[in-house]
Amino acid sequence: MHTLVDVPVSSVRGVGPAVAKLLAKLRVHSVSDLLQHYPRAYDDRTQLSRIAELRSGQAASFRGTVRTVDERKGGRSGIHILRVMVEDGQTEADLVFFGQPFLGPRFAACSRDGKPIEVHGHVQRSRFGRLEVMRSEWSVLPAGLDSPYVGSVMPVHRSTDGLSASRLRTLVRSALDQYLPAVTDPIPASVLGEIELISRHEALRAIHCPSGLDHLAQARRRLVFEELLFLMLSVQQQVSPRQSIPDAASGIAGGAADELQALVPYRLTDGQRQAIIEICTDLAAAGPTSRLLQGDVGSGKTAVAAGAALFMTKAGYQTALMAPTELLAEQHSATLAEILGEAGLQVVCLTGGMPAMARKAALDDVRSGKAAVAVGTHALLEDRVTFQNLGLALVDEQHRFGVEQRSALRAKVVTGNLIVMTATPIPRTLAMTLYADLVVTSLRDQPPGRSPVRTHWKRAAQRPEVYAGVRKLLDKGRQAFVVCPVIEQSDQSVTASAKQVFEAMSEHHFGSYRVGLLHGAQPSEAKRDVMSKFRAGDVDVLVSTTVIEVGVDIPNAVVMVVEDADRFGLAQLHQLRGRVGRGVAAGYCVLISDPSTVEAEARLRTLVETSDGYRIAEEDLRIRGPGELYGLRQSGVPELRLADLAADGGLATLARQLADDVMRPVKGSQPDDYQALRHEAALRQAQVAKGSMDD
Ligand code: ADP
Ligand code: MG
Repeated sequence: MHTLVDVPVSSVRGVGPAVAKLLAKLRVHSVSDLLQHYPRAYDDRTQLSRIAELRSGQAASFRGTVRTVDERKGGRSGIHILRVMVEDGQTEADLVFFGQPFLGPRFAACSRDGKPIEVHGHVQRSRFGRLEVMRSEWSVLPAGLDSPYVGSVMPVHRSTDGLSASRLRTLVRSALDQYLPAVTDPIPASVLGEIELISRHEALRAIHCPSGLDHLAQARRRLVFEELLFLMLSVQQQVSPRQSIPDAASGIAGGAADELQALVPYRLTDGQRQAIIEICTDLAAAGPTSRLLQGDVGSGKTAVAAGAALFMTKAGYQTALMAPTELLAEQHSATLAEILGEAGLQVVCLTGGMPAMARKAALDDVRSGKAAVAVGTHALLEDRVTFQNLGLALVDEQHRFGVEQRSALRAKVVTGNLIVMTATPIPRTLAMTLYADLVVTSLRDQPPGRSPVRTHWKRAAQRPEVYAGVRKLLDKGRQAFVVCPVIEQSDQSVTASAKQVFEAMSEHHFGSYRVGLLHGAQPSEAKRDVMSKFRAGDVDVLVSTTVIEVGVDIPNAVVMVVEDADRFGLAQLHQLRGRVGRGVAAGYCVLISDPSTVEAEARLRTLVETSDGYRIAEEDLRIRGPGELYGLRQSGVPELRLADLAADGGLATLARQLADDVMRPVKGSQPDDYQALRHEAALRQAQVAKGSMDD
């Protein structure tokens, strides 16, 4: 199919320049795009009704003959209304068409010839009780031939103005007729047989023109498998082996946890200890490390990162830690400096907003190797950031970065070692596909003494009582977050904005307390200032946007109020509430919301009920899909058109087995069964790379 990428869609019969332009709007440029312009839905037309059985509000298919054709101009707009009365010997119904005068003569001809027609449309009852059929698709039944519409499952392709779904269907059919013979199947027949997949040929035809629901399911299964397989192959191809840490280092892998223990003021949890040993053993082994460190909010991933950095220093390498926000980068840099400083190691911070002088000094220390650890935002990716000997890249809150950014950081690492960290657990299917190259280390425990955050959902009308509760905690010397969906209020929306809430808070609800404002559009200096005041306890209430979503760690802040909570995603709310209850005092999270949909209500309920990050991640994936959650769109991996990562876990497992086989190094130079697959994967990779350059 990849060969059809270079064949312009205009070579399909029936596609002239005008149609090609319309197709481009649907992002269909090549024959391959058209063949992969899969239907967005299917109409089940396997049932043929009699007109007497038509029910208002349903879509139905039926046959009949045309009795009368009536045309008139209707309403104030003077639109052309065509009313075609059809009957099947028992009952009659009217097909109604708006603004399609050219249909009149055609129905008139049917009426004259008495030929039966077949109709699929949406049934309703008129004010006068007549059966009306709207948005009809119809055809004259050719004598003795099978009908093209009834008895089948009709695909409905995504269409655009000027190019109807039925026109698209016709175009896809002619593309299939013309080009299917040129389509080859890269999956070996033996594999197809083993896991009972139909051929690419058959699947492509069936996804566009299924002969029935079973056939459609088979087609989908095959094409989903293929999508997942190529996604896995593309992710695995991005890993290339580099130099490995000398064996001598492996001796000290076990010691890293003990050394870290001597530097931190708390007792490492078993999970942290285990994770450090696992990671350092991997770092000491031959070949690059590719790991995902996952642990729910507050599980103490930063300390594990410190352990890994400590280990790398002993082995003679630098470590880089990349975080998604300046706030978090600065916090990490402070934490690591505190821990590693004890051991005489220098930690520098690099962000976009830092003063030129400070940046120059930091860059020099990174280049000379004086700095053992560089913490920063994506500013670390800039060319001018050169390391003396970078041996490990850590990426915190990695779901905030695209695959490309991860690879760009990894490209600076001489050993190729990469560890990504996340508090949003990655559902199993995603772990197998998008993160197919990563081995997972999980922190399943929490530091002792933590009580789970108590989450409540309150209506907007209950605000006064919520704020009274918050004031009680403030009076005990605690601090609070108030989170708003947007910075400023726009004319159209009444969503709580940080600025407006800030004013209300400082003037009314918390008039006698110190209230601070923090949002992403502030200059770095202002952000740093308010954060350090909040950290030092000089601000009681911090009103902010989601800039505090990730990582921010202030143990004395024990309560969080989230305004218009239904405006946030599930995993996002879970992350947000992870900001409280980080010390030993109980944490509270109050979600304020009058949700307008059932789904939003269900989301809020899930949060109140569970604090299990794994369950929340699965639920979020189910609701929102992976594109939005994991930055799939901008990530430089092939698009998933059919696969549903929340639902296709079984197929993902099968695809992963094949992907592993395909990627296993080939012995000798003997061509094997997987050559076609490898070849196509490489070509696709090149196309994706080219595509992202064009954007
Ligand atoms: P996350 O996994 O969400 O990134 P952090 O690394 O920010 O968590 O740690 C959360 C808080 O827990 C920090 O204040 C940190 O100092 C503290 N912490 C980490 N490990 C332990 C431990 N073993 N015992 C007690 N507190 C710990
Ligand atoms: Mg963290």
